[in-house]
Amino acid sequence: MKPIHLHYVWDYTRVDRAFWAEHLEDWVPHEIVDAHTHVTDPALRLAPMMEEMRRQYWVNELSEPIDAAASDKCIETVFPGRRVRCVAMGLPSLAFDIEKANQYLQRECPAREWHALSVLRPEWDGERVARELAKPGVIGVKPYYSLLGYDAETRDRFLESDIFDFLPHRALEVLNHHHAWVTLHVPKAERLPHPDNLRAIREIRRRYPDVSVVIAHFGRCYTELHARDGLPALADDPGIYFDNSAVLNPAVHRLAFEQIGPSRILYGTDNPVFYTRGRRQWQGRTYVNRTSHPFHFNRKREPSEIEARYTLYMYEALRAIKDACQDLGMRRAEVQAVFRDNARRLIERAVKHKPANRGAWDR
Ligand SMILES: [Zn+2]
Repeated sequence: MKPIHLHYVWDYTRVDRAFWAEHLEDWVPHEIVDAHTHVTDPALRLAPMMEEMRRQYWVNELSEPIDAAASDKCIETVFPGRRVRCVAMGLPSLAFDIEKANQYLQRECPAREWHALSVLRPEWDGERVARELAKPGVIGVKPYYSLLGYDAETRDRFLESDIFDFLPHRALEVLNHHHAWVTLHVPKAERLPHPDNLRAIREIRRRYPDVSVVIAHFGRCYTELHARDGLPALADDPGIYFDNSAVLNPAVHRLAFEQIGPSRILYGTDNPVFYTRGRRQWQGRTYVNRTSHPFHFNRKREPSEIEARYTLYMYEALRAIKDACQDLGMRRAEVQAVFRDNARRLIERAVKHKPANRGAWDR
């Protein structure tokens, strides 16, 4: 087959097609909700990605925005014969026009039976949050610490902030009232296990029990040690959900299924970043991203015969999920819950409690 262009520097090749046929075709459910995907009109970038930033953090080098039409084409290619709907969000960065990027999704999502999470400006008051939730297709918000202030040099200036700094109580009150969905990317170098994160998440659950809290990337627990330190602390609360996006580690998926269970885990890709070709390796609490493209972060390349066998990160993630499910003997209905039903349930709750759109004057 001729390679099909996916996005940015990534193509879909015969290696990917063979990987799908061997590992995924017979296992991946036919209906899928991708509960964590980023879609943005590239024209809405305000500040150019500087060379310094590309060098500073690997995600900066990979994160080229993808628009909705290109996203459709990729999904069709990587999920052959599947019906995929998305919970889409823009890129949570002040380098983009946040308001227009949110509006873009409100136009694009309903036509595809997708839903949108609006990127939350920490300075919005309750009234403004309610207005956002009333907009077409919006079921909740995506808060993020780098929205506390723009820094051209680093996205980590606010890494150590408190969850309530960028997900303020005045927003949570309104989100709670409307049973909204919040995809929470936890701050701090220590990730989910940091005591302040665990304390804040418990406080959200206590004070705002009707918010659907979805902790992104298992709380950024990409290594087994982080997962062991963080997940058990939140395992007992049936109202806390996790998305498994951007997690490639089979041991983390397995531990999450054991600790959290399949009714509280949502499948997500974190695309377009996970169209990256390569693999990830772990050591203790660190990991290294391998890829066949000459990025700055990709200094230690693997031998070319190994690189030639690389497939998409999102396929490696799917295989890791599959292996964990099979090891644990999970039933088909449980797999379907992870890939579709859990997300659907949270979408339905949010849609049912959505504020009425008060008309054009209010936009
Ligand atoms: Zn993401």
